[in-house]
Amino acid sequence: KGIQAGKIWLNGQLVAQEEARVSVLSHALHYGSSVFEGIRAYRTGRGPAIFRLAEHTRRLMESAHILRMPVPYTEEEVNEAIKAVIRENGYQECYIRPLVFRGGASLGVNPLPCPVEMMVAAWHWGAYLGDEALRSGAKLVTSSWIRSPGNVLPTKAKAGGNYVNSSLAKADAVSAGFDEAILLDAQGYVAEGSGENLFFLKNSVLYAIAHSVTLVGITRDSIVHVARDLGYEVKAVMATRDELYTADEVFMTGTAAEVSPISSIDFRPIGTGQAGEVTLEIRRRYLDIVSGRDPNYDHWLTYVN
Ligand code: PMP
Repeated sequence: KGIQAGKIWLNGQLVAQEEARVSVLSHALHYGSSVFEGIRAYRTGRGPAIFRLAEHTRRLMESAHILRMPVPYTEEEVNEAIKAVIRENGYQECYIRPLVFRGGASLGVNPLPCPVEMMVAAWHWGAYLGDEALRSGAKLVTSSWIRSPGNVLPTKAKAGGNYVNSSLAKADAVSAGFDEAILLDAQGYVAEGSGENLFFLKNSVLYAIAHSVTLVGITRDSIVHVARDLGYEVKAVMATRDELYTADEVFMTGTAAEVSPISSIDFRPIGTGQAGEVTLEIRRRYLDIVSGRDPNYDHWLTYVN
């Protein structure tokens, strides 16, 4: 039936999904000239709360800056638009997708003459890698596609066009029977999943894959804080794929994927071949925080009402 997004905010107006239309001659549709965010709001004891809204809006603005896209709204206005969509649709929890894109004016490759438009949509979205992968751990495969080097695409921007790279890797992984792809960088180091950052645990030390050509994940940052709080030593490292094969645990983080345990990589079971214990401990903590059950992290929540 497709995505049921109810009312969508488009260029300053809340309209029904069927009425949220743009031109098929939009520059973004042809050339990928868009930037976006993925944000989640969670049900809490005080109504819906958006997790790390300020950081997501900041990254949206930075992505737009990288693509030389002047956003016609302030961060405050973007935050208000996001809250309005949640309120208007009466969501208690949802996934939120703001998108800033070059509209239709000219279909020359040069984006600069095209108007900058914006929309915010939100809908219900469960376990990103599926319920089974969440229970038993996801199966990963190293992709033959590498993550774009920083002089090919701006990997710190969450730009639409970058996701041709991610979606090639994801489609191949799923077609081959895996849940998700791991993309290496041009040197052969592990970069990230098609939409997630990677962590591994070895001898009780938690390693976060360093930001090289990866997106600077907001969930990754959250998990670094949470794991340190739980008493784990956390280090950012470059790692090769075989270091993941021999890790005690591997997990992925992302707004959509939250904290997703990994059970195998390239046919090799990771640790026990089940969802790791530390992974599940960290996941539980994360879900407590996003759901407003930890006053120490209340500053990460924006209450909608
Ligand atoms: N890497 C890529 C390529 C992504 O698309 C995402 C999802 N936004 C992430 C990492 C994780 O980022 P975050 O935790 O901010 O959602």
